[in-house]
Amino acid sequence: MIDYTVNAEDEELQINGIGYFLNCIDDLIEIGEIGLFGACRFNLKNFSIINDQLGRDNGTKVMRRFLDGLELKIGVDHVLCRLGGDNFVLLFHKASLDQLRYYLTGQDIYVDEDESVYVSASAGIFMMPENGMNRHIIMDAISVAAKSAKDAESQDYIVFYDHALYEKDEREKYIHNVFSQAIENKEFKVYYQPKVNLKNYMMTGAEALCRWVHNEEVVSPGEFIPVYEKSQAICKLDFYMLEQVCKDLRRWLDEGRQVVRVSVNLSRRHLRNQKTLSNILEIIDKYDIPHKYIEIELTETTMDQNFDSIKRLVVGLKDNGIAASVDDFGTGYSSLNMLREAPWEVLKIDRSYLPDTKKYDEKRHSMLKHVIAIASDMGFECIVEGVETLEQLKMIKRNNCFMAQGYYFDKPLPVEEFEEKLIYEQ
Ligand code: C2E
Ligand code: MG
Ligand code: MG
Repeated sequence: MIDYTVNAEDEELQINGIGYFLNCIDDLIEIGEIGLFGACRFNLKNFSIINDQLGRDNGTKVMRRFLDGLELKIGVDHVLCRLGGDNFVLLFHKASLDQLRYYLTGQDIYVDEDESVYVSASAGIFMMPENGMNRHIIMDAISVAAKSAKDAESQDYIVFYDHALYEKDEREKYIHNVFSQAIENKEFKVYYQPKVNLKNYMMTGAEALCRWVHNEEVVSPGEFIPVYEKSQAICKLDFYMLEQVCKDLRRWLDEGRQVVRVSVNLSRRHLRNQKTLSNILEIIDKYDIPHKYIEIELTETTMDQNFDSIKRLVVGLKDNGIAASVDDFGTGYSSLNMLREAPWEVLKIDRSYLPDTKKYDEKRHSMLKHVIAIASDMGFECIVEGVETLEQLKMIKRNNCFMAQGYYFDKPLPVEEFEEKLIYEQ
């Protein structure tokens, strides 16, 4: 929360605080000139690294020089204030928008005669209309846009506020706030998508995928998983899913059905927790599920960060007879070393390697062929995800992969539909 009362001049940088900024907004509204200005909130990228490299005093010097350069670039008609740390707010004349954008994209700033550092910023910008403005609307707008620009997933370092952005932010807050209630109400459902053996067209496994049934609407994971991944909520959700899967497996086993191995997705957030393995085992053993029926999927994007913790978890799973798979292989930046160093059992190749998908090209085809060859040489099970057409199916078989998952066979199915496929043992 921004403290709107702070007004003091910042000692370190000799720059005004947020109180001054808000007063300027009020003044511009009062004289009817707010529509001539844009508002901007920006954050200096990686400034803590610059501070570590140069020391605090030189860091401050660099920050001041960056701001001096900015003020020079955008001309006299502006108000620049510090929110705190490396966060700043700015009112600028609309005519200097191009200069501002250009400058924030990045500049070489001299530390002394023979040393310089590159400083750039992520920023949220609001081009203010003439009417209907107040300080709260303006601060909310630039904060929402700046948050979106700073988001790790964001490709744009400068984001303009518009209403859609506001709605997206509100929706995210809502999804975040109702989580505990939704878990309690059992609104999250397990859908099962079959995995098929392409030699005999029998189902050999299934992936558990989460669906959120909220206000009689089915919300897809693309909307809520990224929100829950920003907090510990995702860990709670993943364990909830694992527990539901174990409950289903226990019921199917008790009913005498032929069950298949079910894979559960685990977010990267779990890797920070030393107890992840024991939590997984505790849930599986609570329902007395033979470990061979559980597989844990970890996305490839998790690999770069915590290689040691991934390795520890995969080894622990293996020691306990639980398979681990590399999900979405080919979309992140993992090295082949990562495949060698941890005892994975399954490689799941992303659908972007299939023809007819946006990213597909001849180079990808060649990679697919060789990745399948490496996987089988190294003794992994290999499965291609997102198979939708017969042509795709034939193509992966030609490349010697004999497991597939995708709409060509089945979409993720609600439990009642899925379990009809599990025949009773003779
Ligand atoms: P994923 O683990 O890679 O799951 C495969 C996704 O591909 C699923 O999307 C599935 O419905 C979709 N898919 C399967 N076959 C086809 C096909 O033929 N064509 C196309 N276009 N798509 C296909 P879904 O269910 O929307 O899930 C998206 C992602 O959300 C999952 O990708 C996974 O990363 C995440 N997710 C889903 N459930 C959970 C969960 O319980 N925990 C965690 N941490 N992540 C989950
Ligand atoms: Mg998966
Ligand atoms: Mg996948």
